[in-house]
Amino acid sequence: MSTRLVLLGTAGGPMPSVQRAGIAQALVVDDAVYLIDAGNGVARRMRQAGLSFGDLKAVFLTHHHSDHTADLGTLFLLGWGGLSAPVDVIGPPPLGSLIDHWFSAYDYDIRSRHEIDGRPALRPFVREREIVDAGVIYEDDRVRVTTALVQHPPVRPSFAFRFDTADGSVVISGDTARCAALSELARGADILVHEAIHAPSLAALSDVSGGTISTEELMSCHTSPDDAGAIAAEAGVRTLVLTHLVPPDHPGDEVWEAEARKEFGGRIVVGRDLAVLDLGPVAGSRP
Ligand SMILES: [Zn+2]
Ligand SMILES: [Zn+2]
Repeated sequence: MSTRLVLLGTAGGPMPSVQRAGIAQALVVDDAVYLIDAGNGVARRMRQAGLSFGDLKAVFLTHHHSDHTADLGTLFLLGWGGLSAPVDVIGPPPLGSLIDHWFSAYDYDIRSRHEIDGRPALRPFVREREIVDAGVIYEDDRVRVTTALVQHPPVRPSFAFRFDTADGSVVISGDTARCAALSELARGADILVHEAIHAPSLAALSDVSGGTISTEELMSCHTSPDDAGAIAAEAGVRTLVLTHLVPPDHPGDEVWEAEARKEFGGRIVVGRDLAVLDLGPVAGSRP
């Protein structure tokens, strides 16, 4: 068995980044692909990472903010030709409504490719399931997935996911303020992938945020890199990956790492799109 984590997109927030795609990760166990979040660009990044749509087993959504869901629909619309079996799509309400409305919005294209081009019907490939509670929410012969409820007000529920495999464990924080339930979920994991927001750099966002949200409000529902380091230390993980970087194009890697290093003595990886982290006997990372 081989297991690797691929950072498909590492930007936080809805405004498209110059350097990074929207937030998404793939856990790849042998050839089976499990996606966590589906930010803008996820289908293209899957192809760039050499991942096949036909190997997609499940998509897990942490919460319903558009930077995490923008390309859930286009993932299926654009990847349709490569799909070979139903894909579980698992996330909080209103997931069912989101998918139903998306199918309605693209009914013309979906019907014409099915009826005229002869593609198999698309709807049966999407097997959605809503979740509201913490606990084990998915299990197959490769992974067991456990959730924790995290703190991302006013969004409720908002989830973190833990993936346990034969090669090790990966935890994805989703969007959250510093949260004890997350450090509990991440206890002893090999890799903690944690969101991070750098308050001193938020001025760089002021011309593109399109709203009036204050730094204080942002910090009440997100985590600073030093607090992400503290969570990693509390949980006793081996590797901390910083992602969902806000702002996505500031500051430099060395600043993100130095902030997290104040609290965490283990390995720190500042997320980059298409970076690969191996688990198990060949644990390490590739550029
Ligand atoms: Zn987000
Ligand atoms: Zn969010």
